[in-house]
Amino acid sequence: MTASYSADSLWWDGGFRSGGTLRVSGDGGVAVASSSEPAGSGDLVRRLPGTLLPGLVDAHVHAALVDLPTLRAGGLAGVWDLGGVPAQLAGLRGRPGMPRLRYAGPFLIPPGGYPSDRAWAPRGSWREIRSAADGAEAVEEVRAGGATLVKVTAHAGGPLLPQPTLAAVVAAAHDAGLPVVVHAEGPGTVAAAVEAGADWLAHTPWTEPLDAGLARECAARTGWISTLDIHGWGTPTAELGTAVANLRLFRSFGGRVRYGTDLGNGPLPPAINPREIRGLQAAGLTPDDVLAAMTEHTGVSWVPGGLDLDPDRFADVLATARVLSPGPDHRTPLRGSQQ
Ligand SMILES: [Zn+2]
Repeated sequence: MTASYSADSLWWDGGFRSGGTLRVSGDGGVAVASSSEPAGSGDLVRRLPGTLLPGLVDAHVHAALVDLPTLRAGGLAGVWDLGGVPAQLAGLRGRPGMPRLRYAGPFLIPPGGYPSDRAWAPRGSWREIRSAADGAEAVEEVRAGGATLVKVTAHAGGPLLPQPTLAAVVAAAHDAGLPVVVHAEGPGTVAAAVEAGADWLAHTPWTEPLDAGLARECAARTGWISTLDIHGWGTPTAELGTAVANLRLFRSFGGRVRYGTDLGNGPLPPAINPREIRGLQAAGLTPDDVLAAMTEHTGVSWVPGGLDLDPDRFADVLATARVLSPGPDHRTPLRGSQQ
């Protein structure tokens, strides 16, 4: 089934178009419809005011600690769960009213390591790694559990995986076609993650300022998921200042960023978070850069009043976005706007 939406403006591949149509395929993939391509006879084209854009995604949530339908109602078309019980996550995926869910399954940790010592991390949400070979087995379990990401922790406040074990986990994940997200916290952990070949850091580094050499190395090899607003939730803190400065430096070397908030960790709004967006802007991202960091070509998000690229208004306006459903049982109120 294909659904199509047309609107006064589209945001697409780094810029705006005035007017256009987005088509959503049955698997949720979204593309701009070319004018030469005839609409399928079964297509329903919905004409909407405002701006359409590919689905807005939060690349760092914990589904066990937040209500996923609430997040979708708050404008998130997709989420990446970065640590949870795999059977619970598999049961959430694809249910109606849910954001598109991509997940990592359990935190892969050193014996006794973070977060097995935290009250919010139930048994089953972490898996201890005892050797390089055990790491490869764990990756296979994660993959068999439906994960499309692997999450590994490197927290200097407790035991750490030996570097060869960390590297072996990353290599096994890459052999299985799974990107690796590392929680890197504390001295030496960012360098260890990058050296091991991690694809993403789960957080912008915040515990100490990065030197330019390490920031450059990160930018060349490892993307960062932002999570700026976990520092102070709107009240400036030293950690927030360090993270924003690190992100600015990383970006100056061309580093890749994804918007992520660590939903489930503290009093964050269960929706698109304008404070996180303003944090990204404080680190030098333009509104177009923020949209590139937030969107994936799955699903369609809609800003009913139209996007506003004024840097002072952009975050609050983007937070009014809503998710459109491609299904025939579409219930988004569109009175008077359907053609
Ligand atoms: Zn997290």
